[in-house]
Amino acid sequence: MHEEEVEAAARLLASARRAVAFTGAGISTESGIPDFRGPRGLWKSFDPMKIAHIGTFKRDPRAFWEFAASRNLSGAKPNAGHLALAELERAGLLRAVVTQNVDGLHQAAGSRRVIEIHGNGGRLRCLRCGALRPFSADLLEPGPVPLCPSCSRPLKPDVVLFGEDVRDLDAATELLAGCDLLLVVGTSAEVVPAAWLPGEVLDRGGSLIEFNLEPTRLTRAGLGPRGAFVEGPVATTLPLVASRVLAA
Ligand code: ZN
Repeated sequence: MHEEEVEAAARLLASARRAVAFTGAGISTESGIPDFRGPRGLWKSFDPMKIAHIGTFKRDPRAFWEFAASRNLSGAKPNAGHLALAELERAGLLRAVVTQNVDGLHQAAGSRRVIEIHGNGGRLRCLRCGALRPFSADLLEPGPVPLCPSCSRPLKPDVVLFGEDVRDLDAATELLAGCDLLLVVGTSAEVVPAAWLPGEVLDRGGSLIEFNLEPTRLTRAGLGPRGAFVEGPVATTLPLVASRVLAA
């Protein structure tokens, strides 16, 4: 992390009027939630297309529930990165968070406007009748797959699996179309639809700040004069930039 990067990011944030954050797994790894795609990611030990595909869930919900039990994430707490985004929103410096995460940590940190394009693991949904019920850790203990109280079909954590559409894409697109600064936080933004967001913002004359542990394809493509890259763990870099703007 370099001082010039932090200063450049703070300047962009201070002059923005409609900033929006787009977050990914990198903001939650420091809360102990493993990244799926990173170097030590979960996909190294599981074949995602087998386990986390909607087709597999429908054929064999038990296999999916066993996988879910192996990554019981209940008890994770928001970190300083989540808290910094919530503080920026309270101060009127951030409009909303669009997240690819399903852990609910932005809300736990106090963020009010959160769009979860991959759903939320804190609840279960019936694929047949749409009934919702809250997730609880005891559901992960060995035993029968939890069933819908209304129609007795297996319940699925309300997260987007491979083979399913992302959620709330219209709301996310509208927010991002109207933003003049995009904070890309903890994501390499390589997966569609995330992949085209930064380019859209720059094309419309907006600015971009990338907060990532390491350079990504986005950084390497060149962020241009209206972009800044703050390298390092986002639970450290986000609060640093936020505190400069909030103190100004
Ligand atoms: Zn049902």
